[in-house]
Amino acid sequence: MPETTRKIIHVDMDAFFASVEQRDNPELAGKPVAVGGSRKRGVVAAASYEARQFGVYSAMPSVTASKKCPGLIFVKPRFDVYKSVSRDIHSVFRQFTDLIEPLSLDEAFLDVTQNKLAFGTATEVAVEIKKRIKHKTGLTASAGVSINKFLAKIASDYQKPDGLFVIKPDMAQQFIDRLPVEKFFGVGKVTALKMKSLGIRNGLELKQWSQTDLVEQFGKAGKYFFDVANGHDNRPVISHRERKSIGAETTFIDDKNTLESLTDSLWLIAEEVTSRVSKLNSAGRTITLKIKFANFNQITRSHSFLTPVSDYESIFSTAELLLRQTFEKGMSVRLLGITLSNLDSNKQSSAQMNLNL
Ligand SMILES: [Mg+2]
Repeated sequence: MPETTRKIIHVDMDAFFASVEQRDNPELAGKPVAVGGSRKRGVVAAASYEARQFGVYSAMPSVTASKKCPGLIFVKPRFDVYKSVSRDIHSVFRQFTDLIEPLSLDEAFLDVTQNKLAFGTATEVAVEIKKRIKHKTGLTASAGVSINKFLAKIASDYQKPDGLFVIKPDMAQQFIDRLPVEKFFGVGKVTALKMKSLGIRNGLELKQWSQTDLVEQFGKAGKYFFDVANGHDNRPVISHRERKSIGAETTFIDDKNTLESLTDSLWLIAEEVTSRVSKLNSAGRTITLKIKFANFNQITRSHSFLTPVSDYESIFSTAELLLRQTFEKGMSVRLLGITLSNLDSNKQSSAQMNLNL
């Protein structure tokens, strides 16, 4: 099947939260900075490049981060400021296209197949976007340019920070072949582990697998893995307004069959959904729990609220209740997922920003 010819740019701000803090407080410039709480259960939300040199990364427990980098400076997150910078970045994007799909506050896909300012190439558009972002916010972004979302995302990561990299169609396969599976967009920790246990470490090894075999191992995602390993990604850029749901799911390496072990996984999934909802500044009325059984049968159970919710407590406790109502002894579960839908994307709530940092 012929693919639609697209020009896609993936824009990703460099060490976003940390760079904003360094911009606004010159004393932090050039120093290892972690945005997040230093308390016992705190987690690093973002690390400056100086901190990354010590091995500090986002999502790392703050206690671990302090050990790796003794001089690490913890800064409280200021989500209102990040959101306002995010709005500035989006106003730059909109000068070029309305087809913008945000992945988080500081990251988005842009379809510039048609661009409003009639620049000749997508690369010129990317150069200009970077320039205007720098001018408007004082911050640097990295941009990746290619023919689909998958490749554009690889490209933006390639020369970070302040990078601009173009993956042309004839270079694409070589990039994919060499890409470690954990860097594949859409491959989470569990999937990466499973791939490695199957002897798949990079794109080249993934490409050796047939679509049937990948679907057998990974379900629906197997088809996506097959496509991208072979350089095909026909997914369109879906703009914010069209987004229908926000979710996260986990496939277990070993099937789970107790309510307790499933509940343990559920809170992690709820945390991931909450974080995505918060990054997109969204909220939704319906929470859906998805359960896939060892035999690949799948069921969903939903609960709707009268007003949109976005907080961890509502998401987790609803999903947990649905799980308890559904679970029966003897069930063997291979995947759990939570989705928030009936979205209200203009929700401006600061309560939801009260994250566990
Ligand atoms: Mg970023």
